[in-house]
Amino acid sequence: MKHVIILGIPFSIINHHKLVNNLNQQIQSAEKSFVITANPEIVMRANREIDYKQDLLRATYITADGIGIVKASHILNNPLHERVTGYDVMMDLLQLSNYHQYKIYLLGADQETLEYTKENIETEYPSVKIVGHHNGYFDWNNNNIVEEINQSSPDVVFVALGAPKQEQWISQNIDHFQKGVFICVGGSFDVISG
Ligand code: UDP
Repeated sequence: MKHVIILGIPFSIINHHKLVNNLNQQIQSAEKSFVITANPEIVMRANREIDYKQDLLRATYITADGIGIVKASHILNNPLHERVTGYDVMMDLLQLSNYHQYKIYLLGADQETLEYTKENIETEYPSVKIVGHHNGYFDWNNNNIVEEINQSSPDVVFVALGAPKQEQWISQNIDHFQKGVFICVGGSFDVISG
């Protein structure tokens, strides 16, 4: 995978379509991946907070969620093709999950938003198997989320805790999992829940 380094962050040179294809292949071969769609705020925070930067550097893919980052890559003569947003990738992964009957887990947002999100996904994508869900307001040091995910063994885990928590949560927990696409999707549950 080729990268362009912008303010110390290695952005993957990959377009939306290819990323979704790669993730689908990784699901089919039960591999593990960690996807971050980084906006300028995330990049700036990583430059202020070394621990957060280390969290980002554990990702399999970091894509540009912001036209400013795409423009910066052009100035650096190593152009990123396009913006790749968490929401857009989530929509395509849901469609693939519906087709292939993949198992998904939803982590994040408040309880009401989460339940509406679950309901709307079930209506829109009836063959998707939602094997678990947990709201995003939990005790960081005392919860059963990792065990729940391991027991239900989802193919995709959508993490909607907002930045920086979603990147930190995946980075700190990914070693406990054998497989699955772990993707940060920010405020996507708020959109899906209507
Ligand atoms: N959120 C959460 N736990 C927290 C903080 C935020 O689950 O401790 C959720 C919040 O309810 C919202 C989502 O994170 O659904 C994303 O928020 P925001 O739009 O601020 O994130 P961004 O898209 O800007 O990263």
